Amino acid sequence: MIKALDGLREVSAILGEYGIEDSHKEAEIIFTRCIEMGKVALYRDNPALSPSQREEIRSILERRGKREPLQYIIGHVDFYGLKIHVGPGVLIPRPETELMAEEAIKAVTRYTLHVTSEDANSSRVTHYASRILDLCTGSGCLAVALAKEFPAAEVFGTDISEKALEYAMMNASINGIQNVTFLKGDLYEPVKGGTFDIIVSNPPYIRKEDIRTLEPEIREWEPLEALDGGEDGLQFYREILSCAPEYLVQGGSLIMELGQGEADDVLKIAENSGLGCAALVKDYSGIDRILRLSLR
Ligand code: GLN
Repeated sequence: MIKALDGLREVSAILGEYGIEDSHKEAEIIFTRCIEMGKVALYRDNPALSPSQREEIRSILERRGKREPLQYIIGHVDFYGLKIHVGPGVLIPRPETELMAEEAIKAVTRYTLHVTSEDANSSRVTHYASRILDLCTGSGCLAVALAKEFPAAEVFGTDISEKALEYAMMNASINGIQNVTFLKGDLYEPVKGGTFDIIVSNPPYIRKEDIRTLEPEIREWEPLEALDGGEDGLQFYREILSCAPEYLVQGGSLIMELGQGEADDVLKIAENSGLGCAALVKDYSGIDRILRLSLR
């Protein structure tokens, strides 16, 4: 008979040998999931592991040994209070992208107050049908979070990846969100001719030559097309920014996630496209991560 806490120690050690940094925390996640027990109860009751639980833990360990991301194995992540399904073929939402959701929510609210009335009546904000576009939507995490926050808004998410769009649609559906439409195509192409109050994007922004330096979970498992920002990492910013004035209403905002060290270059590109910096927000590590721009 193997007790859970003995198993936990063993699994944590094995994960450590695989080179996984947060091995103890991961072991806890694996155990609480397989035993279907909270962390407190796991430590308090230290139950014996059933053969099927042992088998499930063994098979998770085997997949982690190949450095498959734990999020793919578990099948979902929490993003801004939503359950977002992920798996091979779709980028895993990162905590810093939640900062973007926050910034976008503030921008929608601000814009809505500006167009509806001078008086800040929160029911107007909820009822105003803002138009929101999410370029490179991936799992749809941002589009779904915004659609949920603003039930009267019309939200559109575009992506070139069929697989990503399957996840995005599933994520809208499991979260009970109906005011979001996902469209297949390159950046603005599926919404040609439309205009939007708020445009958001977390585009691929890793410099091509830096991809090989990323952790194996990212480099070997996550979709390259969601990471690769071209030679200088800025390719998508150029494309997004050069067309932004056509798609953004006056007074609206374009909010983008940035790769490390890219803020100055992206700001220059933005200025050449007729957009100016409205806010630059740092992430939890102090890196300039979220850029909000408006038309000048
Ligand atoms: N945030 C991802 C990473 O750190 C990159 C995602 C992207 O290129 N937008 O690997």
